[in-house]
Formats: sequence, C-alpha cells, structure tokens
Amino acid sequence: MVMTSTIDFPSAQLLIGGQWRGAASGQTLWLENPSDGSELAPIARGDAADIDAAVQAARDALSGEWGRLTAAERGRLLSRIGIAVAAQADELARLEALDVGKPLKQGRADALALARYLEFYGGACDKVHGETLPYQPGYTVLTLREPHGVTAHIVPWNYPMQIVGRSVGAALAMGNACVLKPAEEACLTVLAFARIAQQAGLPAGALNVVTGTGEEAGAALSAHPGIDHISFTGSVATGALVQAAAAANVVPVTLELGGKSPQIVFADADVDAALPFLVNAGIQNAGQTCSAASRILVERPLYAQVMARMAERYAALRVGPAMSDLDLGPVISRRQRGLIEHFLGLVEGSGIAVAAQGALVVGAPTGGHYVRPTLLAHVPPEHALAQQEIFGPVQVLIPFDGEAEALAIANGTPFGLVAGVWTRDGARQMRMARALRCGQVFINNYGAGGGVELPFGGVKHSGHGREKGFEALYGFGALKTVAIHHG
Ligand code: NAD
Repeated sequence: MVMTSTIDFPSAQLLIGGQWRGAASGQTLWLENPSDGSELAPIARGDAADIDAAVQAARDALSGEWGRLTAAERGRLLSRIGIAVAAQADELARLEALDVGKPLKQGRADALALARYLEFYGGACDKVHGETLPYQPGYTVLTLREPHGVTAHIVPWNYPMQIVGRSVGAALAMGNACVLKPAEEACLTVLAFARIAQQAGLPAGALNVVTGTGEEAGAALSAHPGIDHISFTGSVATGALVQAAAAANVVPVTLELGGKSPQIVFADADVDAALPFLVNAGIQNAGQTCSAASRILVERPLYAQVMARMAERYAALRVGPAMSDLDLGPVISRRQRGLIEHFLGLVEGSGIAVAAQGALVVGAPTGGHYVRPTLLAHVPPEHALAQQEIFGPVQVLIPFDGEAEALAIANGTPFGLVAGVWTRDGARQMRMARALRCGQVFINNYGAGGGVELPFGGVKHSGHGREKGFEALYGFGALKTVAIHHG
C-alpha cells in the first residue's frame, strides 16, 4: 500500500479482471521521487504473462457485465467516476507531486482535467450514433458505430492523469475494455485512478492496469494478438516500434508523439496579451509537455522587445521541490536532466545567447533533478536546438521577416503538433491557420493541447490519429454498414 495516501490502493500490484495482485514473476521495480532522488514506492514489474491475463480479462468483460451495460448506463458510470476523481483532486495532486515532481497546482489541474474528460465522455456515451444512407430503391442502408473490442493504452510519465482521461475515457465511453500500461517512471495516480473507478462501480475487467517496463510489459502489450486497437503516447522511436507491432497484427494504432511547436508573433500582435502564453507554454511541467511552445518566432520589429520582456519573466521564475508549489518542479529523472543539459551544452561557442534563466531555490535537495528554465536567443532555425525536441524548460527565440519566412521556419521541423499565431490581421490569421502543418492552431491564444472538447494530435513525426473531443470517440470505434434489401 502507499501508506501516506488517503486513496487506498496497492502500489505494488496490478489490476486484472477486478483483482489486485502482484506480477506473475513476483518482481517489483521502484519509483523515485524526482524532487530529492529518494525511493518512493515499489510497483509490480508486470511482463508478458500478466499482459496475457489482462487481455483475457478485458475480453471476458466484453461478454460480461461491462459489455451488457447500455450506453446511458456507461455514461452515468463514467460521470460518477469523474465526480469521485474531482473529490480526490488534492490527494491525486499530492501523489503526482511525489511521483512526477509536478508542482501541486499543476497536479490538481491534471486531476480536474481527468475528471472533466470523464464528465465529457460520460455525457457523450449515448450521443454516438450511425446514419441512414441513400442507396437504391428497395434498400435501407444504415451505419453502426461499434467498439473495437480490447484496446491497449500505453502512456508516458509527463501527464499520466490527463492522458489516461483522454484515452481510456473515450475508449470506455465507446464500450471497449482497456488494458493500460503506465510509464515505469510514474504510475501512482494511474493506479489510484483505477482504484477510484473500481470503487465507483466500474465492472471487473473493463479497465486492467499492468505496470512494468516498456521493453517487457509495453512490448508484450503492443504485440499481443488479442488487442484490437492501440493508443500510444510517447516518443517517436517507441511509437515506431509500437506501430510495427500493430502492423504485424493488422490493428489500428493512434500515435501521439513529440513536438517542436512554434508560437509566431507578428509585428502587429498584442504583446501584453501574448506574453504569459509565450512563457507558460514553454515552462509548464518543466517543459516536459509534448505540445510545449518550445520555439518563439518573432517578427523583427518586435524581436528585441519580446526578448526583453520574456527575459524579465524568466528571471522571476523559481524552481524547487514539487511540494513547494513553485513555477517549476524538477524534471522526471537524472537521465532526462542529462538529456536537457546535453542540449544546453550546444550553446557554448555557437553564437547563440542565453537571454535569461530562472533560479533554483535555496535549500532544494541536492538529489533532486533540477534544471533552471533557460531562454535562448538568436537561434538559427536549422540548429539542433531549434529542430529537436528537448523536453525540458528551454525555449528558443528566432527572428523572422514576413509571413513567408515565418511559415517556412514554423513548418521546417520533422514535427507538426501545435502552433500559435499572434496577429491582429484577420486575413493573415486565416492564411496561417491553413498553411501551418500541424494538428492544432491557436490564434491569439495557446492551449498546449487545448480543452477536452478539441480534437488533438499531430502530423509528420508528431504522430497520427486524433484524441479528445468526439473525434476520439469515433476513433475508438469501427463503422459497420448494414444494407437491408426489403423490396
Ligand atoms: P517513451 O516512448 O520512452 O515511453 C512512453 C511509454 O511507452 C511508456 O509507458 C513506456 O514504458 C512505453 N514503452 C517503452 N518502450 C516500449 C516498447 N518497446 N514497446 C511498447 N511500449 C514501450 O516516452 P517517454 O520518454 O516516457 O515520454 C516522453 C515522450 O512522449 C516525448 O517525446 C513527448 O513528446 C511524448 N509525449 C507526447 C504526447 C502527445 O500527446 N503527443 C504527450 C506526452 C508525451
């Protein structure tokens, strides 16, 4: 048990078919507290045998109590789970602070987002329907939207609650049964959520959770022949492996991968309105956000002003232990910190300037994985710092002249997840919205993924398929056409 939690769940056990139990191998792994590097809690090291059992339990659920619920009953149940999650938001935030190193206010926002997904998808369950189609005389043709069956969900450590909400929430709403594999770096809120759902009445086997490593549990899940759909959120390299595994079994896969998202500030922009969005979308969750606005493109007449005003904000940022609830907590691991420091090492001798850095608070534990937020200026668009995903609190400033250059730079990376455009010119807003190659465009705002109602996903190496909104419900179902000849 995680003894300090008011949510009574066994951190070192898996949830399979409504039963909490250890990994078949009896093995465990340890989670780390990124704020001080201490051991936090053991988790079960599930592997192929546990995945097998979880897939079977999900299959059984489809023909059991879960599969027999009407859409309206599923909806009421999901809404009830959402209410229970919201009631535990403070405790979930505390668990996330310990496990991910997320400042408490961010963890609380994530818990409430999870609750909101369940509210949204709970309300949507009985609004999904097919159509009747015009065809030949003597026929009636209709379409049915049916669940895929058993859906696999592989999630990363950076937003466990939000990603479970958007992926599992939509899959359950469509009537699928889920097997969920959280990241080995952060599992506690996922396990706590499963316990809350169980206590709120989710039938056995509708949601199964198998913790473990990506190479063991993750690979076994994505290659399992009993899976009917895979939803993966994580890195490009792992996404490609998961897609290959899905191809071998010929099952659909949704990939939500990384990004190098730009916010583009034109010379006619309202800088006062833009500033908080420019900075927050870069440093939120210590920059470990797939839709982080890691590139800030500024039209030359405003470049010096935007740099100075962002630098002022950066200088006021404070980094420290998650429980202190500052602007930034630590990054997830020593390894992640090393990756970010490698990128920052590229600055030396490159002509790129460090425009400003935030500060680490006095007394932050030396074992914590802290990185000072860093604003870099005059970064050439083709430089690795402007091309590759750093996944840390580092933003690059890039000057441009005119719309064509802004577009070329914005579209000129392997990624295409989100973009922000700041301009008062209505015609330019529309031109940019159409010409940007990405899954979401925000005009005079920036949503870092946006609300639960807004379809989200990428193009190019940012992935394919859409989560959030109604679009996700359709993605978690298959369309069947029924043609009836009645003469
Ligand atoms: P990762 O790909 O290493 O891990 C993600 C998940 O995949 C984890 O659960 C992991 O255990 C599992 N996994 C690892 N190897 C596997 C394998 N061989 N087969 C199956 N599963 C395996 O990613 P990460 O480093 O944990 O997360 C950071 C990355 O995720 C970043 O690149 C970020 O941009 C991306 N991300 C994207 C989104 C999005 O919505 N687009 C959201 C969050 C994170």
